[in-house]
Amino acid sequence: MSDQHNCPQCGCEHIYQDGGLWVCPECAHEWNELSTSADTDAGDTGVIHDANGNVLADGDTITVTKDLKVKGSSLVVKSGTKVKNIKLVDGSDGHNIACKISGIGAMNLKSEFVKKS
Ligand SMILES: [Zn+2]
Repeated sequence: MSDQHNCPQCGCEHIYQDGGLWVCPECAHEWNELSTSADTDAGDTGVIHDANGNVLADGDTITVTKDLKVKGSSLVVKSGTKVKNIKLVDGSDGHNIACKISGIGAMNLKSEFVKKS
């Protein structure tokens, strides 16, 4: 990481990462790295697209386009699985869709492996 990070509130350089959030010890400001980069990079509007380039929204029904292993288990979400009522999240690791899959439970998916139904 060559990016210089400063607290967007007070400019303090001694910030640290806690979970997915950056925390400033000076003013206790907490922020998300993604929204910080969105300030400087106008191209990132936070819109999430599916594998076909369609815009996804909270509450959409999507279909999984690829067999996906569930981290930390032997379960696999099969290609073609329908997932209702998705919720878009800030996935710093690319898992930007939160959902519940029957038989598996709550998990996060990558938008590149789903398509809008
Ligand atoms: Zn600060």
